Amino acid sequence: MSLDVPDLDRVVREIADEMRARPDRGEVATYIPELAGADARAFGLVVIDAEGRIAAGGDSDEPFSIQSISKVFTLTLALGMAGDRLWRRVGREPSGSPFNSIVQLERERGIPRNPFINAGAIAVTDLILSGHQPREAIGEILRFMQFLAQDSSIAIDEAVAASELRTGFRNMALAHYMKSFGVLDNPVDFTLGVYFHHCAISMSCRQLAQAGRFLAHSGRNPLTGLSVVSPERARRINAVMLTCGHYDGSGEFAYRVGLPGKSGVGGGILAIAPGKASIAVWSPGLDASGNSHLGRIALEMLTKRLGWSIFGA
Ligand code: GLN
Repeated sequence: MSLDVPDLDRVVREIADEMRARPDRGEVATYIPELAGADARAFGLVVIDAEGRIAAGGDSDEPFSIQSISKVFTLTLALGMAGDRLWRRVGREPSGSPFNSIVQLERERGIPRNPFINAGAIAVTDLILSGHQPREAIGEILRFMQFLAQDSSIAIDEAVAASELRTGFRNMALAHYMKSFGVLDNPVDFTLGVYFHHCAISMSCRQLAQAGRFLAHSGRNPLTGLSVVSPERARRINAVMLTCGHYDGSGEFAYRVGLPGKSGVGGGILAIAPGKASIAVWSPGLDASGNSHLGRIALEMLTKRLGWSIFGA
């Protein structure tokens, strides 16, 4: 369904207004102390359609911690470096477990279920790090984000990275455990340093929606005209986002929203309407699975009103 711009603008603004007024906002993540100060009243939504038209509502230019949304981009980079060899060290099945779960790792001999749970993302980060110094790998990831969004102002929030370095004991356990199976090639501290830093990238909904456009358009970023990945790879990344992007909430997200999506504990979600749009939403309050509560509701309203679910109207 193609919409004229005023319609899309109106839908986005109406959803943003409605979301800003809702009392049920979920719980802001506190296990990373630096994230605990996020304003639960914040809400932003940006849709960028195939023609590059931007519909924005609420706090659409406010930077937030993208956290696990960065895992989409590290997966993209790692696939570029290793190709299908990547799938030797990480699976691509939904886990049905929380994002920081350790239980499956023992049974599956240190091979994480998918690249979006923390263990899987740490294994992907380790691959990107190989052959580099941590600082170089962090720079590479950050520059990739800046390139995709065509915005060199995108930066890492060092306070968030430091906060997670001090308190990320669960991730340290996951990484050491994988190291014991030989799944990580680099010193655990180096790999985690890079992981915490890419999770601490700060972006606004507008920047994030720009960065995701290649996934909506067969691997090509319409902003630059440059091909980021092949159409086949874009399709596959979208498939992993659909099945694994919301951890043990992935089934519910597919059921309600019907789009590939990736959440982060900062309250952001990047959602892809293939061929139609790249969508970023942000509301810091989370549901029990650690996914943005109002972000999911807003996306459900959006796809319903626009008929954008990949499963039909
Ligand atoms: N950096 C966070 C962590 O490792 C990312 C988790 C998330 O966004 N779901 O715990």
